[in-house]
Amino acid sequence: MALGEFELIRRYFAAAACARTVNGVALGIGDDCALLGLPEGEQLAVSTDTLVEGVHFPQGAPAHRLGQRALAVAASDLAAMGATPIGFTLALTLPAVAPAWLQAFAEGLDSMALACGMQLVGGDTTRGPLSLTLTVFGSVPVGQAMTRQGARPGDLLCVGGTLGEAAGALPLVLGECTAAAPVSDLLLERYWAPQPQFALGLALRGLATAALDISDGLLADCGHIAAASGVALEIEQSSVPLSDAVCALAGSPAALQAALSGGDDYRLAFTLPAQHLEALRLQGHTPFVIGKALAGSGVRLLDERGRQITPRQLGYQHFREQP
Ligand code: ADP
Ligand code: MG
Repeated sequence: MALGEFELIRRYFAAAACARTVNGVALGIGDDCALLGLPEGEQLAVSTDTLVEGVHFPQGAPAHRLGQRALAVAASDLAAMGATPIGFTLALTLPAVAPAWLQAFAEGLDSMALACGMQLVGGDTTRGPLSLTLTVFGSVPVGQAMTRQGARPGDLLCVGGTLGEAAGALPLVLGECTAAAPVSDLLLERYWAPQPQFALGLALRGLATAALDISDGLLADCGHIAAASGVALEIEQSSVPLSDAVCALAGSPAALQAALSGGDDYRLAFTLPAQHLEALRLQGHTPFVIGKALAGSGVRLLDERGRQITPRQLGYQHFREQP
């Protein structure tokens, strides 16, 4: 590499605004380890995500957007647990040192880090096919993290926003179609810079009985809550919040399919005893109630008359065994 490894780290990452150490981080980039402090009575929440070129994002993806998206998808797991974000590490594998690419990537990463209130505390830099591994750290009071277990029969099933926009954006991302600016801009923003629902996650602490962020599609991810909690989840298809932009781009049947089975929205899905809905609204959060938990197992999709619908496709999984 023309630019040495250490100069690269210094110029693009250690010098980034998001690498400045403030509260919670006693030691950041530059030593063998970072040192993180946790307030008394708090647990460390940790999650890792890897994005591989050609698998998780298209070849030749804009570097600035990639920086934003890589951190957003990783940080969303903290929101899902009700954790307060602290910082992250970045393991970067690059095919070559391209200063313009690195500059744009670091700026995108920086903008998402500042929006999320997260500091870059370390990482690793290697040569190879483009891939990014981000490990995120957050803090949560002992015993208050929201898990996928805990949903009880009678709880409402809710989601934190419209679904299907990232999946609906894919044809635009891949350059397979175009759309008018308002639709195109909104959908591309949702795909490249999803906003982790941190405020909602914090508000749900002590109220929700189970939660996760929707990364693989509503039906597939609700299946995780159902399995971990030992309940059945019923979803009323007509209550699933569809995206006006996806409806405009692809029509409502496609928008419904994207909302049910498309991944990458990073909205929170959670179960909530009905009496807590008002408390959540008073805090300024108006989730969409899409169904409920019952005794039993699995996820069922119902039409307006309460009849079960068989969805076409559950969600996206790597390495799924073929039937
Ligand atoms: P070591 O050999 O001790 O693992 P490195 O030489 O890999 O350390 O990294 C030197 C310092 O730079 C460490 O503090 C490491 O966390 C940081 N670092 C390396 N790559 C990155 C990166 N892509 N982003 C942020 N920090 C990085
Ligand atoms: Mg070392």
